[in-house]
Amino acid sequence: MSTAEHPVCPHCDQELQAFELPDTAGFEADFHFACFNDECPYYVRGWEHLESNYAVKASYRYRVDPITGKASPLAVWSADAVKDCIIGASVDESDPSDNGGCS
Ligand SMILES: [Zn+2]
Repeated sequence: MSTAEHPVCPHCDQELQAFELPDTAGFEADFHFACFNDECPYYVRGWEHLESNYAVKASYRYRVDPITGKASPLAVWSADAVKDCIIGASVDESDPSDNGGCS
């Protein structure tokens, strides 16, 4: 077990996945960790919260900056958003060629 390298989501206990940042502005790290569990309560609540408060179809996932160790919300506009930026994804084993194609 190496929880230091792969921290666990406090909301759903799933291992966080490293992903490449689409926009590194303001961040020192090239990648962050995020919870890509579609059933994560944090993420599920985000849809309801943003829709009822801001009338937007979006949500956010639990995200951790590996350098500062700080958690912050990662805004997503669909269930698949940012998933193609996951590094060394074990998430979607059916597509090993699509690995780091984040741009
Ligand atoms: Zn989670």
